[in-house]
Amino acid sequence: MTNKMKHNQDRCDFCGVCVGVCPHDAIELREAELIVDDERCTRCGQCVQACPIHALEVNDEAGV
Ligand code: SF4
Ligand code: SF4
Repeated sequence: MTNKMKHNQDRCDFCGVCVGVCPHDAIELREAELIVDDERCTRCGQCVQACPIHALEVNDEAGV
């Protein structure tokens, strides 16, 4: 499966900032896991900009 977003699970400290900025409510934070809903995500990049430790990036390999 190719996800729209790449998330570095090892770097992430699960602060929840990206969840708050996503305009499409596409990010869900579970116990020690961050899940991006590809149905909702538009790859707007706002979560990438907001993440203080750069744990998120747009996956260019994924189809539109
Ligand atoms: S903003 Fe970054 S560090 Fe915080 S939960 Fe999201 S991906 Fe993880
Ligand atoms: S790229 Fe935009 S729509 Fe996709 S998860 Fe990040 S903030 Fe949400």
